[in-house]
Amino acid sequence: MRAVTYHGTSKMQVDTVDDPKIEHPGDAILRVTSTAICGSDLHIYDGFMPMMQHGDIMGHEFMGEIVETGSEVSALNKGDRIIVPFTITCGHCPFCSDQLFSLCDNTNPDADKLRQIYGQSGAGLFGYSHLYGGYAGGQAEYVRVPYADTTHLKVPAHIDDEKVLFLTDIFPTGWQAAVNVDARPGKTIAVWGAGPVGQFAIRSCFLLGAERVFAIDDVPERLALARAAGAEPINRAEEKPFDVLMEKTNGMLPDSVIDAVGLEAHGAGVIDSLYDKVKTATYQETDRPHALREAIMCCRKGGVVSMPGVYAGLVDKFPIGPAFGKALTFKMGQTHVLKYAPELLARIERGEIDPSFIITHRAGLDAAPELYRTFRDKKDDCVKVVMRPGAA
Ligand code: NAD
Ligand code: ZN
Repeated sequence: MRAVTYHGTSKMQVDTVDDPKIEHPGDAILRVTSTAICGSDLHIYDGFMPMMQHGDIMGHEFMGEIVETGSEVSALNKGDRIIVPFTITCGHCPFCSDQLFSLCDNTNPDADKLRQIYGQSGAGLFGYSHLYGGYAGGQAEYVRVPYADTTHLKVPAHIDDEKVLFLTDIFPTGWQAAVNVDARPGKTIAVWGAGPVGQFAIRSCFLLGAERVFAIDDVPERLALARAAGAEPINRAEEKPFDVLMEKTNGMLPDSVIDAVGLEAHGAGVIDSLYDKVKTATYQETDRPHALREAIMCCRKGGVVSMPGVYAGLVDKFPIGPAFGKALTFKMGQTHVLKYAPELLARIERGEIDPSFIITHRAGLDAAPELYRTFRDKKDDCVKVVMRPGAA
């Protein structure tokens, strides 16, 4: 089959590789009909994610049709159409039982490696390094779905792939970020990063009834997309977010903030950001938390700092004093996709949201190397790439 494979920093290839096989009776094989590139894939592309090996198959946002099931699979049949959450879930450990699916205790065979650096391990993830199980990803024609009975959501045949594909990750991720700030009528939320996750966070805040949402980024077309959803854009290249937020909230600041940027934050010309660049380049710091620092400074007293943006290691110059002095609460982590996906599917079916608004680029798998670059560099107004294996 054809698959998108990793070959070092900024180097993706499309290779012909072996078709996946059933390796365990609980596995299923999926024919991928649609797959997307995520901001999290960029952390791999940009060399921030360790423990990748040459030839690893990329991708954790994918859906398709079951073509084969292992002997122990009972909830799926050949021909079923499913979306696959990026977090692999056993369904019965204490964490899955609490719907903390991304913290599943059983699906990461590399758990010992993560225990050494984090103390505990979360779930195995598709296409996300040999820290998270080394599972082949879904930017491919076929993919093995382990723990298949509990790692899927069936989707009705009449809804197009483009409307449900993002239930695998970015829609629930934006939603969880909005739930974590307790978005509801009367609330004002500010969102850093108007990428795909930020866009779904903004729309989720509004779906939950939030009164005002600010969107902070410096990419004009992404800010325009945020404005189209009803958010108030702040172009950080032109204005200082803290000053604008102070002014627009009569000195109150937003109730809570969302960091939908994560460890690769930019901060051209800003001192703390230059500091992060030097420190990460010399391996003295792993993550660049410029947006997080700013979000903390901009959060109202008593508010929540919700962090869907990914962090991996250690950060410096963390404004713990302001966070403590304002009694802030931090909520973060990989998304518990299946906790939210059924409800979000129902909202899609009711026509409350059409997630395909985010797609700017559609192609076959062979365009992947070029599209990784386009998405990373935000060229050609790219916001989200969807690939259809088999299509030209
Ligand atoms: P993206 O790279 O397309 O978007 C990031 C956006 O942040 C870009 O538009 C960029 O211009 C903007 N940005 C950079 N520096 C900024 C700054 N200092 N202030 C404000 N904006 C800034 O990625 P995405 O797909 O939207 O993902 C965003 C983050 O969410 C990534 O870290 C990704 O790994 C993470 N993510 C987490 C989960 C989860 O389960 N928690 C799931 C999916 C993605
Ligand atoms: Zn993702």
